[in-house]
Amino acid sequence: MAFGHRYTGLIDRYRDRLPVHDDTRIISLGEGNTPLIRLNNIPRELSRDVELYVKFEGLNPTGSFKDRGMTMAVTKAVEEGSKAIICASTGNTSAAAAAYAARAGITAFVVIPDGKIAMGKLAQAMMHGSVVIQIEGNFDDGMRLVKEVASAAPVTLVNSVNPFRLQGQKTAAFEIVEELGRAPDFHCLPVGNAGNITAHWIGYSELAAHSGDHVTAACTFCSGHCRYAGGGVAGQRPKMLGYQASGSAPFMRGAMVDNPDTVATAIRIGHPQSWDVAWKVREESGGWFDECTDDEILAAQKLLTEKEGIFCEPASAASVAGALRDIRAGKIPDGSSVVCTLTGHGLKDPDTAIAQASRTPIKVPAEIDAVTRAIHENMD
Ligand SMILES: *Cc1c(COP(=O)(O)O)cnc(C)c1O
Repeated sequence: MAFGHRYTGLIDRYRDRLPVHDDTRIISLGEGNTPLIRLNNIPRELSRDVELYVKFEGLNPTGSFKDRGMTMAVTKAVEEGSKAIICASTGNTSAAAAAYAARAGITAFVVIPDGKIAMGKLAQAMMHGSVVIQIEGNFDDGMRLVKEVASAAPVTLVNSVNPFRLQGQKTAAFEIVEELGRAPDFHCLPVGNAGNITAHWIGYSELAAHSGDHVTAACTFCSGHCRYAGGGVAGQRPKMLGYQASGSAPFMRGAMVDNPDTVATAIRIGHPQSWDVAWKVREESGGWFDECTDDEILAAQKLLTEKEGIFCEPASAASVAGALRDIRAGKIPDGSSVVCTLTGHGLKDPDTAIAQASRTPIKVPAEIDAVTRAIHENMD
């Protein structure tokens, strides 16, 4: 990297492929550019020959991938003169909306479910000064309400039905292809509203359309000027694998689910907003949907923390839980490269983490003998 080069967020970096003008005031917190970490210990124990990576989106400024979409959505809202934004949220969208609204100097209204919101996410929405409206209902109720409110009141809706959200989120696919030099064979994501799996597919598809000298009409924003035109990136796209929590799996049931329930609160969604388009993603990519139980999700979360040193929130672990099962079963064959998106940071939900941690603190007197004994007794 050139001396003095400062990373200033994903809009600046991918300006040529995003719907912004030269004079657009960009609302950024330096989101994107998250690490793609190759897993070592977990694959070794699988005794399968796969290249397994996690894209740790929990390292975005507010701790989830929602920042990628929110920088775009709030930038466009401000450009259009909006003074307030609104969203329904299971937690992470509200955290991101609150932070980017604070950065922009506008108001955020966030509608969250009563209970079942992770403590870290609530703390963020409150600390950033958003107006938190807690409804006696779930996320799907909240979504219905904010859509109606936003159609009448002078507030901009920043849920993933806002098309700028997916434009921002597609940049995760760009980063992955830049790092690997090609698209992975499989890309695994947890699915709630199915906005993120759709956004990744948009990103991979734009790159594929611009590989070699084969520029098609698929990319609507760069007019063929992006740096992939004529470039060497293979025009291949991954199979997209979407994993849902069993208690909240409308894509597995083939129908909306009215009372979704799961420990993975970020994907506790029964009426996905990107329903039709997500089915298209599955079909076009040749991928599949599957479900994981809460036990499988929590086991994968723990495996990542204990074996790889990576702490993601429960919903994020659904991607790894599903991928590991499909690798073991051979549905993801040997020789494959696999990327799992870890959508949010484990610190978001400390209560769930502490409730299932393998070790609780050992309480001893503040004496050298007691501490020494505790060390000897717990040496692996
Ligand atoms: C929002 C979110 C999801 C679900 O993404 P969708 O785009 O709604 O499918 C998954 N995990 C985390 C941590 C989230 O915040």
